[in-house]
Amino acid sequence: MPGFSIIPKHDPQQAHRIRRYFLAVATSLLVLYFMTVVHIHGYLELRGLQWCAAGMTLCFVVFYALFRSGLNLKCRDPSLTGAQMVCAFVITNIAAYYTESDARAVFLPVLLMTFYFGIFRLDTSQMTTIALVSIACYGVMLGALYRFRPSAFDLQLETLRWWILAVVLLWFALISGHISQLRKELADSKSALEALLERDELTGVGNRRYLTHMMAQEKSRCDRSGTTFCVAMLDLDFFKKVNDTYGHPAGDKVLKVFALVAQDGLRRIDYFGRFGGEEFMLIMSETKMHGARTKAERLRYNMEHTRHAEIDPGLVQTVSIGLAEYRRGETIEDVQKRADKALYKAKSNGRNRVEMEV
Ligand code: GH3
Ligand code: MG
Ligand code: MG
Repeated sequence: MPGFSIIPKHDPQQAHRIRRYFLAVATSLLVLYFMTVVHIHGYLELRGLQWCAAGMTLCFVVFYALFRSGLNLKCRDPSLTGAQMVCAFVITNIAAYYTESDARAVFLPVLLMTFYFGIFRLDTSQMTTIALVSIACYGVMLGALYRFRPSAFDLQLETLRWWILAVVLLWFALISGHISQLRKELADSKSALEALLERDELTGVGNRRYLTHMMAQEKSRCDRSGTTFCVAMLDLDFFKKVNDTYGHPAGDKVLKVFALVAQDGLRRIDYFGRFGGEEFMLIMSETKMHGARTKAERLRYNMEHTRHAEIDPGLVQTVSIGLAEYRRGETIEDVQKRADKALYKAKSNGRNRVEMEV
């Protein structure tokens, strides 16, 4: 099949889930090997081994189809961890059912191994639910033994095993729920840290790293969809004079005010940030030059008419703006360079104006 790969390349999250599914498949094959050894030693009936092998194969196919068709995305937990764990419990209990009473305990560590998979995703309440389901599964298996294979059933021994299994699984649920909580907290702090890395400390808007990231994202979105976007480079006019006349803290204040003015009326799909110093960038998604020009003109006008009463009621801070529309296939450096060129034109044509690069 052209372009088919076992693990999809276009969706990293689905790829991650499928990789974890293959880890579960490998673990299941290891368990099947254990079962075969128990069978060779005469403790597990051939019928039981066959049922387990058939059940595993069915699960492998069904889960892979669910992942590849994308049906898993409709579930509350798209990794299907809970469902895979329950299937593994049922299959292990089938093996336990067909195993001699003395040897049945060999499958208890296997149940714990299955449980371990929950640590990756589930919280304490979900782990407790899975523990209760698996305790119930074991109970059903014992009930079936009592009813259909009484010769392989030792009531006292099985009650003891069931009791210990129940306590161990619930203990495990508590501990692994705690571990998965820690993992979640770690992931949250990682994304908070990443968000911080893309913020400008002074103005609170995105920084150069953020803008580069968003330009790259816009570029690939436009290359896929055939639409376009515009980049505006904005530079405050004679800003050095503000610092020289009123001091650096006043300059900082003007930068903050400009960030607020520029963000006023921005759409959710526009991205604004500080490129460096007194230079800012506005990325206008799904926008052609005509629309971008209107927007830039409004921004320029708003800044010119903003009063800076705290610094000097007479202070007028203007901004020059250079615009470029993305051309399909060019690099983000190219489009930024063209916007810079337009900004240079705005400066040399007298400042406080919008120019375009066409
Ligand atoms: P032009 O119209 O040609 O852009 O003139 P300009 O004075 O704005 O440009 P220039 O590049 O000469 O000066 C930019 C100034 O911006 C110099 C620098 O001290 C100031 N600046 C850069 N970052 C900050 C900052 O974070 N805070 C303050 N207060 N000033 C800053
Ligand atoms: Mg400037
Ligand atoms: Mg500058």
